[in-house]
Amino acid sequence: MSGTHSPSAIIVSGAGPAGMIAALELARTGRKVTLAGPLSNRDDQRTTALMMPSLDCLDAFGIGEKLRAAGAPLKVMRIVDATRRLVRSGPVSFHAAEIGRDAFGWNFPNLALNAALEHAVAGEPGIRRIEKPVDAWSIDADCVTATIGDETVRAQLAVAADGRKSPARDAAGIKVKWREWPQAALVLTFSHQRPHGFVSTEFHTEAGPCVQVPLPGNRSSLVWVNAPAEAQALMALDDGALALKVEERLDSILGKVTLEGGRQVWPLANAVPEYFAARRVALAGETAHVFPPIGAQGLNLSIRDAIDLIAAIGNSADPGSDDALARYDRLRRPDVHARLAAVSMLNRSLLSGFLPVQMARAAGLGLLARIPPLRALFMREGMRPGDGFRAIPSALREKVGR
Ligand SMILES: Cc1cc2nc3c(=O)[nH]c(=O)nc-3n(C[C@H](O)[C@H](O)[C@H](O)COP(=O)(O)OP(=O)(O)OC[C@H]3O[C@@H](n4cnc5c(N)ncnc54)[C@H](O)[C@@H]3O)c2cc1C
Repeated sequence: MSGTHSPSAIIVSGAGPAGMIAALELARTGRKVTLAGPLSNRDDQRTTALMMPSLDCLDAFGIGEKLRAAGAPLKVMRIVDATRRLVRSGPVSFHAAEIGRDAFGWNFPNLALNAALEHAVAGEPGIRRIEKPVDAWSIDADCVTATIGDETVRAQLAVAADGRKSPARDAAGIKVKWREWPQAALVLTFSHQRPHGFVSTEFHTEAGPCVQVPLPGNRSSLVWVNAPAEAQALMALDDGALALKVEERLDSILGKVTLEGGRQVWPLANAVPEYFAARRVALAGETAHVFPPIGAQGLNLSIRDAIDLIAAIGNSADPGSDDALARYDRLRRPDVHARLAAVSMLNRSLLSGFLPVQMARAAGLGLLARIPPLRALFMREGMRPGDGFRAIPSALREKVGR
């Protein structure tokens, strides 16, 4: 089909997970959405840990149950201080049962997650799907225009979910603060001799965290953060030699390791924009926030981007109005900045050789290990911002027996 299309309310650029989730959420509120962009990455070897509130969103799209068959619940999260530094803390475990939950979240292979989202998009009548990239943007006071091949699509609002280098964000003139970390994450999937018991273990090393996350059966995924040269050296090993390195890094807690499928190295960076929306363009997903993969933040935040966007535009006749975009900016700013600060602080504290920083990190972990209410606050906040603090009054009431 070619030519100019009359304004659909919203165009979402980028059909990665964040773009598909934004399009689905918007269409569910009755908005007419065009979703433009190539099919998602068919060679993504990563898995994604989604916290329970994020799963509510997948359930609402009708794909949660099918996806759970490809994933595994995260019932316990354990942090092991595997640094060789002078000041170290003991292991700290967080059990979902301590806060009355069966699991903190679930871990899914990205290929399964993206395939399920694509299926949901195809079945959503409110979404018009164009499997091509946006070639050019023009923005004026009352509309955005996207050129896609030989057609032009006009809309009142553009959602930029077109990745780290977002052309839509550039078209809106929104600048981004970038920071490259001297780290890269090796990702792979492996089977192991002993059951994981739905425990995810995070080994903190001087080069960054090495995180094992459960998958169905005696299988797990691994995100191993290292100096880039070390990550490449591991990448170059044959399967047998790398399996031994993985087993060694995991202190053999899961017994013998056998690698499955492929492996990839992802460079680590932080990026946050100066505004989360401007000039009829709202940012979502990695266009709005890039973090190191610590504490499973990225896509969980992207789901909250979509939820906040719905709240910001409400029933407005013009979803791209300055008022709606200012509301979206106000809603996203504290969440994204708080998560960025926490992830950066943890990452910096691992990389830092400065003794007081090591002491503060060890003391923090030690406090979490010893003080159950603090641990509960940390766990609830990790799942959804605000939940930990909201639970304090009821926890206090229980304590005083009222
Ligand atoms: C190693 C690693 C582990 C991670 N683990 C977790 C985890 O456990 N939990 C979690 O929540 N997050 C995790 N994340 C973060 C999560 O993977 C990302 O937040 C998520 O993949 C970003 O999705 P996205 O849709 O924003 O970006 P992308 O997947 O990059 O999608 C952007 C899309 O835009 C498209 N595009 C580009 N240009 C155009 C154009 N001109 N027109 C239209 N489309 C265009 C691209 O083709 C692409 O499909 C991890 C990240 C890494 C690196």
